[in-house]
Amino acid sequence: MDEHLEGSEPQHEDAAACVLHDVFGFGSFRGAQREIVDRVVAGHDTVVLMPTGGGKSLCYQLPALVRPGVAVVVSPLIALMHDQVEALRLLGVRAAFWNSTSSAEESDAVRRDVRDGTIDLLYVAPERLLMPSFLRLLDDAAAGAGIALFAIDEAHCVSQWGHDFRPEYLRIAEVTARFPGVPRIALTATADALTRREIHERLRLDGAAEFVSSFDRPNIRYVVEEKSDARAQLLRFLEQGNDGGTFRGSAGIVYCQSRKRTDEISTFLRQKGFDAIAYHAGLPSEARSAAQQRFRRDEGVVVVATIAFGMGIDKPDVRFVAHVDLPKSLEGYYQETGRAGRDGEPAVAWMAYGLADVVQQRSFIRQSDGGPEHQRVDSMKLDAMLGYAEAATCRRRLLLAYFDEESGPCGNCDTCLEPPQLWDATVPAQKVLSAVVRTGQRFGAGHVIDVLLGKRTDKVASWEHDRLPTFGVGSDLPEREWRSVIRQLVARSVLSPDPGRMGALTITEAARPILDGVETVELRRLSAAPARNRSSSRSRSGGSAAGSAGDGASSADRALFELLRAERRSIADAEGVP
Ligand code: ADP
Ligand code: MG
Repeated sequence: MDEHLEGSEPQHEDAAACVLHDVFGFGSFRGAQREIVDRVVAGHDTVVLMPTGGGKSLCYQLPALVRPGVAVVVSPLIALMHDQVEALRLLGVRAAFWNSTSSAEESDAVRRDVRDGTIDLLYVAPERLLMPSFLRLLDDAAAGAGIALFAIDEAHCVSQWGHDFRPEYLRIAEVTARFPGVPRIALTATADALTRREIHERLRLDGAAEFVSSFDRPNIRYVVEEKSDARAQLLRFLEQGNDGGTFRGSAGIVYCQSRKRTDEISTFLRQKGFDAIAYHAGLPSEARSAAQQRFRRDEGVVVVATIAFGMGIDKPDVRFVAHVDLPKSLEGYYQETGRAGRDGEPAVAWMAYGLADVVQQRSFIRQSDGGPEHQRVDSMKLDAMLGYAEAATCRRRLLLAYFDEESGPCGNCDTCLEPPQLWDATVPAQKVLSAVVRTGQRFGAGHVIDVLLGKRTDKVASWEHDRLPTFGVGSDLPEREWRSVIRQLVARSVLSPDPGRMGALTITEAARPILDGVETVELRRLSAAPARNRSSSRSRSGGSAAGSAGDGASSADRALFELLRAERRSIADAEGVP
């Protein structure tokens, strides 16, 4: 086979390499496949984290053919299951599925084949796994040719915090526990540290080795814009496209927070001449599959979707994934953006986010009925998302670090390409921290900002916060800038919002050196002018799309001047700080 392929050369005396070559037609293993396959063949439990397209299927399909008996593969989507079984049959592998679409005859045939030991891979939907008829089938298999292994694909579905949560996944361990000698392999392309722990715990894979491949997708450029007018910004993003030119005619996905918004935005894009279709879970299933098919088959379709447009979409030439609303976790975000550029060609992950998003996400969390533990975790996940949105340094590095992967600055994200303006925000940070402490660490950002700005609200009056030395010491900066300062302090874990107490801000250990003046704080400055002004000076083509060209430079200068003056004043005011 091809000498130049990565990985180890096949050694024809070993069974795995033979199957790789003879059945799958591959010249060599990719990345950690060899190690994983060996482990599973040897009968050990394994957890595999590999990006989409990394080659996870082989990690259980190959051992299924080397080990005796039938391999049981739990897969959450019927469409995925069908595709896989079809692909395996084309390779001459004896594969079948067992799900709600199977007819009685098909089920009978599968049962017979399993009993006879003439099936190598059986794909099953998680809700079928615990049915008595299926358990009987497993018992028959175990008593006959044996069960080769259990593979749990898309294992992140076990996480209650993720949006792919499938309650049936929580019961998989009950089934596998009945067959203690059978190795299990759990696979996913998306799992932060918490989800990994859940996979180990809930699938009872305590002793399992974990294989983590690099999650980097170097061809995806990450860009975040401060949101002012989402539609206009989206349109400008699409018009401008990538270095190579406009995204008109390119396939892409636009993620929105709500169903209503997918309708609004898709209508808007159609008016602007894009081939846009809405997609959300509220649409009839025919409409959804029609949308999926059009996206896959036709060129240049833009799907405007909620997160319901998800697993199983593997169109190679998606040129952009745009988020017009803030996602609730980095894990979800990374999974969604990962649908771009699977062909390895340049692609962009673009997001517009603003304060309203943070407020909305926080209130979703507050209103969720999952209990305090749920809220705590959701809040942590949102904080990580905010840390990304607020990043002053390489976004890719931050994303990868979230998945425990170290990397250097990437040179292909907005913060690398156009490093943001940083400012010494030590004094403003001290003011915020001091206001938080003085008000007893029991109020959210809104009230703390009111105190800083010297606003005599009812709440301020009733707590007599107008008598604090910090009252009004922040009148030199606009509310927006204070929010940004607080968001960045939260993102850096200097401040921590307590979701158990309505997001009350508390200071952390990291606040002390700042308050003591031994540590300076460098923050990303809010764009002095709204985003449309910024980019009209960057690019001419976007100006008309934004519906406002104009006084960008001069108002930016004014704001900068204002800010510098405010800073000087604030230093003089700093005596009020403890
Ligand atoms: P994942 O499930 O991780 O998203 P797949 O298992 O679907 O990825 O594999 C992605 C693609 O990579 C498939 O087209 C598969 O045939 C191919 N592939 C997997 N392993 C190898 C290999 N060792 N050599 C060449 N191609 C491979
Ligand atoms: Mg897969």
